[in-house]
Amino acid sequence: MNVHDSERLSGLLEDAGYIRADAGDTADVVVFNTCAVRENADNRLYGNLGHLRPAKLSNPGMQIAVGGCLAQKDQGEIVRKAPWVDVVFGTHNIGSLPVLLERARVAQEAQVEIKESLEVFPSTLPTKRESAYAAWVSVSVGCNNTCTFCIVPALRGKEKDRRPGDVLGEIRSLVDLGVLEITLLGQNVNTYGVEFGDRLAFGKLLRACGEVSGLERVRFTSPHPAAFTDDVIAAMAETPNVMHQLHMPLQSGSDRVLKAMRRSYRAERYLGIIERVRAAMPDAAISTDIIVGFPGETEEDFQGTLDVVRRSRFANAFTFQYSIRPGTPAATMEHQVPKEVVQERYERLVAVQNDISWAENKTQVGRTLEVLVAEGEGRKDEATHRMSGRAADNRLVHFVPALREGAPGDGPPRPGDMATVEVTYAAPHHLVADGPALALRRTRAGDAWEARENAACGTGAGGTGGGSGTPGSVSLGMPVLRRS
Ligand code: SF4
Repeated sequence: MNVHDSERLSGLLEDAGYIRADAGDTADVVVFNTCAVRENADNRLYGNLGHLRPAKLSNPGMQIAVGGCLAQKDQGEIVRKAPWVDVVFGTHNIGSLPVLLERARVAQEAQVEIKESLEVFPSTLPTKRESAYAAWVSVSVGCNNTCTFCIVPALRGKEKDRRPGDVLGEIRSLVDLGVLEITLLGQNVNTYGVEFGDRLAFGKLLRACGEVSGLERVRFTSPHPAAFTDDVIAAMAETPNVMHQLHMPLQSGSDRVLKAMRRSYRAERYLGIIERVRAAMPDAAISTDIIVGFPGETEEDFQGTLDVVRRSRFANAFTFQYSIRPGTPAATMEHQVPKEVVQERYERLVAVQNDISWAENKTQVGRTLEVLVAEGEGRKDEATHRMSGRAADNRLVHFVPALREGAPGDGPPRPGDMATVEVTYAAPHHLVADGPALALRRTRAGDAWEARENAACGTGAGGTGGGSGTPGSVSLGMPVLRRS
């Protein structure tokens, strides 16, 4: 959600005439899009603001803005703690950022503007998409649940759903631009439609995505086990461009802990959904989120989590050690679990899940997969002379960018193209295809990526943009004001 909000902030600023600062340049405007879900988010924000202070002192025209969940939470406190901040804006009014920057510049004083409810559905705002081939599309914002470890309901408000026609309109425009893959985004996609009176709206939306010509891959995040209905499983199984991949947060395998978390499903219901998903789509890759050490979690509760993990056979799991998030109900609960106990349980969980991920990945060896070539997914690609991408089930695949002699297609593959490869090796968190590709399909997304690259080269990769390039300056990678 926050990554997509950052794309909107970039889009808004570009629309207002700002351009991105080059690496190595000092930015004239720095925007922090904060996330209160992250551990130590407050410390990190104030630490980063402290680091920026000398740059601001030596360049008084520089502007610093803070938005996102922490801004919504701390509001005016931010300018009290860091008076060199120029603008504070909340989660409900990100569209105000350019106006607030301008107002702060003219008035020469900090502008703090926080709204308690959504002004405009954020998807109507200009967006600077980071990828030419894959895009996020919001179906809803906010959440009506009240999980006791989560700050989202307090900061993002009640769920607001977009109309299906608006969602599909955005998807069609993205596909027209070359996008092949979209991820539908909501805090709880399974309650999508409740606001406009259609409880089956999400399954219908998935099926409608199947009608969008040129759209090859549809994913979604996140579903909530309490609201997950079988029509969504049927829509996934019966719509060819909806990928057989499900990321469904478990959080805990103990019913007692789930109750304390105010997660209104129980372990057996969760396992039942997985069973039905696998019955309908035997090739489905299922992943999850798990919190270890929630207040009051006993060894027996933790064993419950391990049991669900073993039975679910997740392709992978995002595992978190519980830590207090100020402002959440769990923060003040009794029986907080000592750090060393949380750590030890966490290590046991990671070891169990790693074994499962590895075993599941080994079943892929020898299979032929179509991989959507990605940009920036393989940190070692340069050293290993490979490229990387995602299989249909979202597994990360590193492959050799050469084409088998006589195989269809021509190279070299570009991000956004499709490579058909045979898996030769499995690691716990990725697959490798070390033989030459069996086919390469050049796509509109690859063309769009290439056009973007050419445009960036033609303008010196944004090099007209303002930064002073002061020796020793730190690249903040943020937009700068275009200078005439
Ligand atoms: S479902 Fe729970 S964890 Fe997810 S956003 Fe809503 S309150 Fe937070």
